[in-house]
Amino acid sequence: MARKYETKGKQLVSRVIPVENFDLVIFGGTGDLARRKILPGLFRRFRSGQMPDDARIIGAARSDLDSKGYRAEIKSALEEFVSSKYRPEDAVDGFLERIEYVAIDAMGDGGWKELKSLMRDGVVKAFYFSVAPSLFGPLAERLHDFKIADRDSRIVVEKPFGRDLESARALNKTLRDSFEEDQIYRIDHYLGKETVQNLMAVRFGNMLFEPLWNSKYVDHVQITVAEEVGVDGRGAYYDRSGAMRDMVQNHLMQLLCLIAMEPPSRFDPDAVRDEKLKVIRALDPVASRDIVRGQYTSSKKGEGYLEQVENPDSQTESFIAMKLHISNWRWSGVPFFLRTGKRLKARQSEISIIFKDTPHSIFGDDSGGSQNVLAIRLQPNEGITLSVTIKEPGPGGMRLVDVPLDMTFADALGPDAEDVPDAYERLIMDVIRGNQTLFMRGDEVEAAWAWTDPLIEGWASKGDRPSPYDVGSTGPEEAAILLHRDGRRWREIRS
Ligand code: NAP
Repeated sequence: MARKYETKGKQLVSRVIPVENFDLVIFGGTGDLARRKILPGLFRRFRSGQMPDDARIIGAARSDLDSKGYRAEIKSALEEFVSSKYRPEDAVDGFLERIEYVAIDAMGDGGWKELKSLMRDGVVKAFYFSVAPSLFGPLAERLHDFKIADRDSRIVVEKPFGRDLESARALNKTLRDSFEEDQIYRIDHYLGKETVQNLMAVRFGNMLFEPLWNSKYVDHVQITVAEEVGVDGRGAYYDRSGAMRDMVQNHLMQLLCLIAMEPPSRFDPDAVRDEKLKVIRALDPVASRDIVRGQYTSSKKGEGYLEQVENPDSQTESFIAMKLHISNWRWSGVPFFLRTGKRLKARQSEISIIFKDTPHSIFGDDSGGSQNVLAIRLQPNEGITLSVTIKEPGPGGMRLVDVPLDMTFADALGPDAEDVPDAYERLIMDVIRGNQTLFMRGDEVEAAWAWTDPLIEGWASKGDRPSPYDVGSTGPEEAAILLHRDGRRWREIRS
């Protein structure tokens, strides 16, 4: 089932529309992602009445558990990750009744027959691969060989999808040996965020913005994904990846595509993904002077990157800022500035479209006011703000000020705000509905790696060293200079 919003007075109210009945198998059902995101998300959909009555969730992992033991684990995960206000006991009990467990080793042959016997005909069969990427291939093969999956089944694949073009191609091939492309759902949870989808609604559902969405009216675009956390506990994985592989190749690239793409003819999976792919293919190679790599160093706010990873001389970047150009008619000459990093001043993700100055100020150059900015906030407080210039109220001549037209979703949705699906639950429901629009297609992922690979290889061959920045700062000084050089500046990261 999905949720539809309608306006009632000043507030949006929701109503529910059904999804099909399903069996969802979560491989890695005992892992961190399943406990923290997938199962709490499914619980919220169940509690909101969006799950069909006899939908089933089957956890699978190597741990020697039975369904009763697994339910107890899920109960404790819900207690940890869903606030008690939204966790009524009867809803938890009802949800747990839908849960089963099968012990399976993705690399072995035990447990598959039992899984097969649990799966029902006539319902959507979905398989979530919430396991290490090295297990994606073995799982796909066994689902196929044991005839557990059929032509209508879907598999959901977590990031990272490869670590370069070659490995992504090999993974695509392995998955496509057992499944068709329209059965493969490569998840990028940024695409499931309410605001990201709203970005498309704002662009293509209003007459106001699209006519201005080009080099004639847009001065530049900024995408910031700032994290307060460091590599904490993920040091081994992160040190092999860095910000470019972990964030830019997937999340930031996806956001860039949604902002820059041409209007698709329909909001359907291939129409949208064709347009996104064209953006990646139109990206210019980036000059080394237009990239800043950084690594956090200890400050009074916490310990540095090198204290948290094994290699004391690691050159992996925990921060990256870059200036990109898209070679097409719409965006010729418009810089796109991307920035992401760990252990920054605050957690803040935002896409900002900064419009050009008016061609001539009739009020005089010192009358105040500045460029219009459309800011799309992904976190915290998802929402959209448009800053417009108005007259400062009161006497004293024509003084101009910028005021925000603010649509914070939590305010607009009122009591329904807590019930807005988070990215994971929305995307899982899309899998059940068979809607791939918000999932990455294989060729998109490969195109993004084809663009990323030469940059990473260039740093390695030159022995490029990341610039240091203090824990709790806004990143290396060179990142600020990257914009100052053009007479621009980053939007503030607010703590
Ligand atoms: P995790 O906490 O290490 O969990 C791994 C899961 O896989 C466990 O349930 C483990 O259970 C199971 N498993 C391991 N080897 C197995 C095998 N041979 N056969 C069957 N099951 C096996 O990892 P995670 O953090 O949940 O991450 C899962 C996937 O999501 C990874 O691809 C990760 O990159 C991706 N991801 C995670 C996050 C996150 O926030 N955690 C975010 C984005 C993407 P047993 O040991 O009982 O088998």
